[in-house]
Amino acid sequence: LNIIHVAIEMAPIAKVGGLGDVVTSLSRAVQDLGHKVDIILPKYDCLKFNHVNDFHHHVSFRWGGTEIKVWHGKVEGLSVYFVEPQNGMFDVGCVYGRNNDGDRFQFFCHAALEFIFQNGLRPDILHCHDWSSAPVAWLFKEHYKHNGLASARVIFTIHNLEYGIHQIGKAMIYTDKATTVSYTYSKEVSQNPVISAHLYKFHGIVNGIDPDLWDPYNDNFIPVSYTSENVVVGKKAAKEALQQRLGLNNSNHPLIGIITRLTVQKGIHLIKHAIWRTLECNGQVVLLGSAPDPRIQNDFINLANQLHSSHSGRVRLCLTYDEPLSHLIYAGADFILVPSLFEPCGLTQLVAMRYGSIPVVRKTGGLYDTVFDVDDDKERAQSLGLEPNGFSFEGTSSSGVDYALNRAISAWYHSREWFNLLCKRVMEQDWSWNRPALDYIELYYAARK
Ligand code: ADP
Repeated sequence: LNIIHVAIEMAPIAKVGGLGDVVTSLSRAVQDLGHKVDIILPKYDCLKFNHVNDFHHHVSFRWGGTEIKVWHGKVEGLSVYFVEPQNGMFDVGCVYGRNNDGDRFQFFCHAALEFIFQNGLRPDILHCHDWSSAPVAWLFKEHYKHNGLASARVIFTIHNLEYGIHQIGKAMIYTDKATTVSYTYSKEVSQNPVISAHLYKFHGIVNGIDPDLWDPYNDNFIPVSYTSENVVVGKKAAKEALQQRLGLNNSNHPLIGIITRLTVQKGIHLIKHAIWRTLECNGQVVLLGSAPDPRIQNDFINLANQLHSSHSGRVRLCLTYDEPLSHLIYAGADFILVPSLFEPCGLTQLVAMRYGSIPVVRKTGGLYDTVFDVDDDKERAQSLGLEPNGFSFEGTSSSGVDYALNRAISAWYHSREWFNLLCKRVMEQDWSWNRPALDYIELYYAARK
């Protein structure tokens, strides 16, 4: 198949959250299975060009009263076209954050389709993502479907239904097939009016992670390479490096890591409670998070000031976005906490497991589909041919967090051998795209029937 993704995020050159990871890692997995994959992305000024190879000017054309330059390059082995309208639309800011995002991204989608059309690219599948490239679905049907690209089919993936509901609703009408990023989230949102009328073409496919991009055996940001065979040694070295880097006591305490956008979705009150609870239980906490909302950011700055003086050496809140540091936390933490109020899929718990960190999660969406509580979910895991792999809780009160955290920390203190085996076990589970990529390819073919 010839597949073109039209997307506005792509890891690692323009990543804000999980959407950027998925575009890259799903594409790589599908390409590895023998299909042709291209990605079309806006050419932001803030692109991390050190990850782009063979970058060169590809073509220019006029559209919408503007000259559009298209560049081409290779990113993580993928072919990427960069669309650059000469009206400066993508020069300022990075990905999101300007008050005309909707207009900018719609313009980008239209320019991307025009580029495909004018340059004779003949995709079998046009894959668009979230509200930001949702316009591909209707622009394609309105302007191109009967105009040279008749054989293409549109796949629309919803990574998060919280944002851009109008665009998502319109794309749901026009797309040939739609997906969201886990089975349980697909059920949770099935009553939403923009989804419920289209259930017949709506599927839940859980995300994977790219095992080459997240690989503790081959990771420049951690001190000692490790696999499941020497997980204890590797994680000990990473924990010491992390403690040293962040000024934490080099003591043998359970370390809880939290890596997240700080938004209401991520369960802010539960995160705060978990920090205090962990400190009460004699643990250490590292939080890496940035808040798009300045009020939340200020709130956490205040909390950081308070905690860094009251519990110096035991807790560090890094209120920023820092990819290298995230790797060291995944490797150095004993547990990764993800207490989201809702979570379409969640990648942090999957990356955590790849690095032998034990996920502690709220049972919702993709967290429910990928984390199986060691006490409560044995049968559910076994029915899927899996072993339990973490700690989880229900509800949105602090007692739920306590239920999961207390058991996790107690296991670390009192059942160390069992805990180390659990770390080895989670590393050996396969949360890559191996399985989900096949599901996507099956769906691509189904769309063409
Ligand atoms: P979402 O897309 O809702 O933000 P996901 O769990 O799907 O959540 O994906 C989050 C991705 O972003 C993960 O790869 C995670 O490691 C990364 N991430 C989140 N916050 C930060 C941060 N402050 N610094 C570095 N990486 C982060």
